[in-house]
Amino acid sequence: MTMQRRYRRGDTGPAVAEIRSKLVLLGLLPAGAHTVAGSGDGDGHGGYADAVFDDSVDLAVRHFQQQRAMTVDGIVGPETYRHLDEARWRLGDRMLSYSIGHPTVGDDVATLQQRLLDMGFDCGRVDGILGPATERALREFQRNYGLGTDGTCGPATFRALDRLARTVVGGQPHAMRESELLHRSGPSLAGKTVVIDPGHGGTDQGVVAHGLTEAEVVWDLARRLEGRLSALGVQAYLTRGLDSDGVGEEDRAAFANATDADLVISLHADRNQSPRASGVSSYYYGSGSDRYGRRSPTGEHFASLVQRELVARTGLVDGRTHGKAWTLLRRTRMPAVRIELGYLTNAEDAARLAGSEFRDHAAESIVVALQRLYLPPDEDVPTGMLRLPVFT
Ligand SMILES: [Zn+2]
Repeated sequence: MTMQRRYRRGDTGPAVAEIRSKLVLLGLLPAGAHTVAGSGDGDGHGGYADAVFDDSVDLAVRHFQQQRAMTVDGIVGPETYRHLDEARWRLGDRMLSYSIGHPTVGDDVATLQQRLLDMGFDCGRVDGILGPATERALREFQRNYGLGTDGTCGPATFRALDRLARTVVGGQPHAMRESELLHRSGPSLAGKTVVIDPGHGGTDQGVVAHGLTEAEVVWDLARRLEGRLSALGVQAYLTRGLDSDGVGEEDRAAFANATDADLVISLHADRNQSPRASGVSSYYYGSGSDRYGRRSPTGEHFASLVQRELVARTGLVDGRTHGKAWTLLRRTRMPAVRIELGYLTNAEDAARLAGSEFRDHAAESIVVALQRLYLPPDEDVPTGMLRLPVFT
C-alpha cells in the first residue's frame, strides 16, 4: 500500500486503521484502543473503517518521527508512511537478498548492516537499503563463517548473526565450564565445530617487531587454518574480522560459547625483552598446580598434541605446554588452547614467521593435532607421520 495523501489529526478511515496498526506493531500505541466513539455497534469488528487519527495517534506519530530523525509534524505523508513500513521489519522476518532495481529496504537491512560493520565487514553506510556493498559484505561474512556464500540472508545466516549478536551485546551469562564431550560425534573431524581466535586486531596490533605485526600474522595463519578445516568438513568460526577492533578476551570466549564449538584455538606470537627468547609454547586452562587446582584435561591433552606437531614440523624451539587461567582459556566452556607461535622479538623466529611456507606448516600441524585428538588411541601414529589430503 502506498500512501498518496497526508493524514493528520481528525482523519478517519481504512488508511488511518493501517497507520494505527503499524504504530501498535512498533509499540508506540497500545493495542486494543482501536475504535472510536460512534462505532460502538457491538459487533466487535466495526473499528476498521471508523479508526480515528486521534490525539494518541498524533503523539505516537510525532514520537516515531523523532526517533527516525524526521521532521516532527504529526502528519503521515508518503515519507512517514514509508518509514512506518520499513520499521516493522526485524532481522529474521524475511529472507534478504540483493535485487537490482528493487533493493530491499527496511530496518532488518539496517540491523544486518550494523552487525556486519560491527564485525568488520565493510558494507558502507547503515541506510537500511540492501545495495551491492551490503551484498558484498554479506558474502564476505558468509565466507568467513563457513556459510554458503550465496549473498542471501536466510536461516543459516540469521542463526550465525544471532549467535554473534549475543556476544556483541554481551548478554550471555558466562556459564562455568561444562563437561567436555570429546567423543560426542566420533573420530571424524567432519561435523565438528572449531573456533579459531586470531589474537588482537584493530588498534590492538599485539607485538610489532622485525617488520611483522602479530595481529596480521595470526590473522593470516587463522585463514590458512580455516581453509584446511573447512576442506575437512569442520565448521570453523573466526572470533574477529580482519580489522575488527576492541574484541576482548571476554567477547571471544562468549562468542565461542555461543557457537557451542568443540574446541577453541587461539593464535598469538610472543615477545620478550631478551631478543634471544624464542620458540613455541602452548597453553591450556589450568589454575594451581596442586591437587585442588582446576584444569581442562582435554585442553591439556590437545595442547600437548599441538605442541608436539608444531615442534616436529616447524623446527621451532620447544617452549612446552603450560596451564594458565587466562580469560579466554577460563571462560570458554569447551577445551581451549592458546598457541604462542614463536617470538616476533627474536630475529630467527620472525624470519620464519614471515614465510608463507612456514605458516602452512604451522596450520597443518594444528590440523593434524586436531585429527589426533579425535583419533581412537589404537589408531594413533607417530608424531610427524600423519598425512593430510593435499589442498589446492
Ligand atoms: Zn598476543
